[in-house]
Amino acid sequence: MAQSAVAEERAVPRPAPLSIPVRDIVPWAVFAAVLGLVLIYFVGAEQGATSLLSGTWVHEFTHDGRHLLGFPCH
Ligand SMILES: [Zn+2]
Repeated sequence: MAQSAVAEERAVPRPAPLSIPVRDIVPWAVFAAVLGLVLIYFVGAEQGATSLLSGTWVHEFTHDGRHLLGFPCH
């Protein structure tokens, strides 16, 4: 009984591990990091004295995210 279970386990083909070269990942990782930093800036700091864009539409658009992430708001 135990030998047949071992034999069945050996018979199951296992997929080869997937290897992704680091050089293929780095540009996308840098892009994601820059995009994340821009998003964090607009959610967390685009208001008041640090505001780059005039008006309050960015503040209002990201307002719920600001509160969700715990940034000071009002
Ligand atoms: Zn608020």
